Amino acid sequence: MLHPSTELRFINESIGYGVVATALIPRGTITWAKDDLDQDFSAAEIRSMASPYRQLLEKYTYVDREGLHVLCWDAARFLNHSCDPTSRSPGYDFEIAVRDIRPGEELTDDYGSLNVSPGFELCGCGAPCCRRTIDPGDLLRHGEEWDVALREVVALIPRLDQPLWFFVREKAELAAVFAGRAPMAPSTRNYYDTRAGARPRRPSAGHAGG
Ligand SMILES: [Zn+2]
Repeated sequence: MLHPSTELRFINESIGYGVVATALIPRGTITWAKDDLDQDFSAAEIRSMASPYRQLLEKYTYVDREGLHVLCWDAARFLNHSCDPTSRSPGYDFEIAVRDIRPGEELTDDYGSLNVSPGFELCGCGAPCCRRTIDPGDLLRHGEEWDVALREVVALIPRLDQPLWFFVREKAELAAVFAGRAPMAPSTRNYYDTRAGARPRRPSAGHAGG
């Protein structure tokens, strides 16, 4: 479920639709959490479907650490990629703002952390740190670096208004992190090896580069 201070908006012709903040979302706020209405599909289930359904799922799903393709029921499936995203995922089933997100600013995440296979080339996100080629291996290559920023913002969770806290599944694990009894689960915990040898494709609008 997306943070309530967001809405689906048409961004431009090349990007298509995206998710935009309607109020300030402070750094350290959970911007999306997996909820019970999101649908999981196994690779075998997807293989058994007719081609039009397979194409829709390829466009709108990400892959979780169990290898399940997750179709978000709300506008979260329209979150676009950036190599310098507003939100990232630690090793939990949620995304958190790694910087303040201003009203009117588009929320983005990093498809390199979503096991999107085969990924894509020629990323056009425009960030100075753009990696150009985005693939699932990005999580293994950059996870440690992303975790430095994530540890800082995860520590802010208990101090901020968190409209999505109800939906967070790892409350007990996080309580130990907040109390200093356990380290934050690293973002690489979400890695799933999806390498199937398919050719990269170009990104466009839609969650997971579709
Ligand atoms: Zn990029």
